[in-house]
Amino acid sequence: MGGQYICGVDIGGTWIRVGICTYDLKEENILRKTAKTPKDHQLAISEKVCELLNELLIENGVGKHQLMGIGLASAGPFDMEKGEIFNNANLGFKIIPLKEPIRDKFPRIPIYLINDCNAAVLGVHYFEAEEEEADNLVYITISTGIGGGVICNGRLLLGKEGNAAEVGHGLVEPKSQIKCNCGAYGCWEVYSSGTGVRKRAQTELNEGVLKGNKLLKLVKNDPTKITAKEVFKAARKGDDSSKKIVEDCIFYTKVGFGLVNNFYDCVTIYVGGAMMNDSDVILPPIQKAFEDNPIIFTINKPPKIKKTRLGEDVGLCGALSLVKYKYEKHRIVF
Ligand SMILES: [Zn+2]
Repeated sequence: MGGQYICGVDIGGTWIRVGICTYDLKEENILRKTAKTPKDHQLAISEKVCELLNELLIENGVGKHQLMGIGLASAGPFDMEKGEIFNNANLGFKIIPLKEPIRDKFPRIPIYLINDCNAAVLGVHYFEAEEEEADNLVYITISTGIGGGVICNGRLLLGKEGNAAEVGHGLVEPKSQIKCNCGAYGCWEVYSSGTGVRKRAQTELNEGVLKGNKLLKLVKNDPTKITAKEVFKAARKGDDSSKKIVEDCIFYTKVGFGLVNNFYDCVTIYVGGAMMNDSDVILPPIQKAFEDNPIIFTINKPPKIKKTRLGEDVGLCGALSLVKYKYEKHRIVF
């Protein structure tokens, strides 16, 4: 195939997604490959990225010389200068080199690193956002953790190392006894992320605070098998203890969205991440609260709240958009 192509990569704790697309970046032209994230050695991730990209190029008759750029989205934190991820608990190694090993196999092709939530907000901006939302837009992922990407005044907020908008560690409960992975107490993600919901259910069952019969039945009396999915399922079946945890998950997400809107004064908050499998339970009460009586949660005009339609592809779409925006010198990334 002739013409020019861009490449996007999304590196997650469980999956690696690689996509190439013609420069027009039409959704229907994105070609994808997905593989489990390998964790056997430090360079396993970069090797897998190169392998998937090579396969995509060969299978579609695209030459390396037709690639205009590679966008790499991953959970951070990043050392931007070295092009590495460091201290990421989910990827298995203290340091994971990305840029150099990929550049070795794809020389002379510009490579851009970006935090996964920052990529996601670019993806929403390019593929999904309406015109009046585009300049003041927030993307929040509610998944293993909670993270955010922010476009404010038409520019992507990056911070000194590309890690701005770590909204999941915003304090939503000052009297909280629940400790977050970050070391603080009462962060938004201890109440509303998948990990937070699971840990709360397990702790409260252990301590005998909660009975949770319906929840325990779902995991055949083995609390170690509980995930957020079972807690939501038990709540739907009327399990009182699970209902309380789900109610808290929703309440603190209202607080979290309120903080986000106070800080960034956004038109719309788009939401994604694995917890959106239960979006029919989580989002309507939040949307209603922001329509009926937003002042409890935010001083600014309330934002619209929408679930992204891009689903699991949001990071990949964002990585592709990043390359296009960089090439076009779009003000959003400069
Ligand atoms: Zn925290």
